[in-house]
Amino acid sequence: MHPFQYQRTETADQAVAAVAQDPAGTFIAGGTSHVDLMKEGVLHPSLLVDVSGLPFKQITAHEGGVRIGAGVSNTAAATSADIRQRYPAVSEALLAGASTQIRNMASMGGNPLQRTRCPYFRDPTQACNKREPGSGCAAIGGYNHVHALFGASAACVATHPSDLAVALSALDARVQTLGPDGPRTIAFPDLHRLPGDQPHRDTVLAHGELITSIDLPAFSGRSHYLKVRERASYAYALVSCAVALEMNGSTIGRARVALGAVASKPWRVTAAEALLAGQVPTEPLFRAAADAAFADARPLEHNAYKIPMGRNLMVRALLETNGLQPLQGPAGTAFAASVGGVAGQFAVPR
Ligand SMILES: Cc1cc2nc3c(=O)[nH]c(=O)nc-3n(C[C@H](O)[C@H](O)[C@H](O)COP(=O)(O)OP(=O)(O)OC[C@H]3O[C@@H](n4cnc5c(N)ncnc54)[C@H](O)[C@@H]3O)c2cc1C
Ligand code: SF4
Repeated sequence: MHPFQYQRTETADQAVAAVAQDPAGTFIAGGTSHVDLMKEGVLHPSLLVDVSGLPFKQITAHEGGVRIGAGVSNTAAATSADIRQRYPAVSEALLAGASTQIRNMASMGGNPLQRTRCPYFRDPTQACNKREPGSGCAAIGGYNHVHALFGASAACVATHPSDLAVALSALDARVQTLGPDGPRTIAFPDLHRLPGDQPHRDTVLAHGELITSIDLPAFSGRSHYLKVRERASYAYALVSCAVALEMNGSTIGRARVALGAVASKPWRVTAAEALLAGQVPTEPLFRAAADAAFADARPLEHNAYKIPMGRNLMVRALLETNGLQPLQGPAGTAFAASVGGVAGQFAVPR
């Protein structure tokens, strides 16, 4: 590992100032993602500013919804009674990720900022424009079975790995930040970037911009998250789907659907959402919505399997969210699996 300086700060202002003044400085929270990448020689920060001691560890009521401090652990958020009851997709997505030990360390600010699991990004001997701009993309001519169907560019075809981010996108969460130019609010679906010709920039955050909290807006509908993975536990999504559904009597008032592991950001499928609004929920309607969601998919050499897998997953997520089909197996996984110590106790509120 390269030598680096480590600093703890007592206030968010100090943390922002410390990172902002060092071009190779960065924040660290739980360290579960960042330290691995340093050990693997992928990242070489000169300064780590530890934000885990900052006072952002509360889950509070906020404007009819819930404010989750950036320092709240993934476990604390997943098991919060408020989040389980009002935003089950968030709890399910968190429990579908990593392991109990990692979730105990991982923070709500750090989780959506974890880097891609593209194997070439994580191997410093391979060409990767995200790790080293201008070096090329080994995935495009390589084995690209976990890569993107949507929004990719000639420079990068990576996907974003966070399960949580998919649920936050479907629920239109808002990210509160403090940067060198002061505080701002970012709509969650706008947080992550498409690669374009700058794949090394994953998000719209400025250098030294700190996430202070994530706000879940008021929501009285049903939400749900499903994930397909190669192993039943401790594996990243091949495809995932989060649904937030609000009914208006017997018809769908509003549907929001985000797909995971298909793009460099959680992929909101607005054409499908428009098709669902105002309709009576049926399986044929959900199948038509899933067809619309994947109509613009652009598969690579090895990842076309994600299209039927994603369509079927989206139909099932809609059926289970709506209640037309009962939940199968533990929450947060498309296959019966252990997803954490409290998995299986949750159901989508009826
Ligand atoms: C073996 C393993 C399996 C995993 N499986 C999954 C999985 O299936 N699904 C899944 O979603 N995740 C999975 N993860 C990833 C895990 O969820 C993340 O590592 C974790 O959520 C990151 O949180 P952290 O606090 O440890 O972040 P850190 O590692 O501390 O930081 C991650 C990034 O966020 C930045 N950062 C942290 N906090 C802030 C802040 N407040 N403001 C601005 N920037 C900040 C850091 O600079 C860094 O770039 C897995 C991880 C491991 C090691
Ligand atoms: S897909 Fe992106 S992250 Fe993966 S090798 Fe290509 S440039 Fe790097």
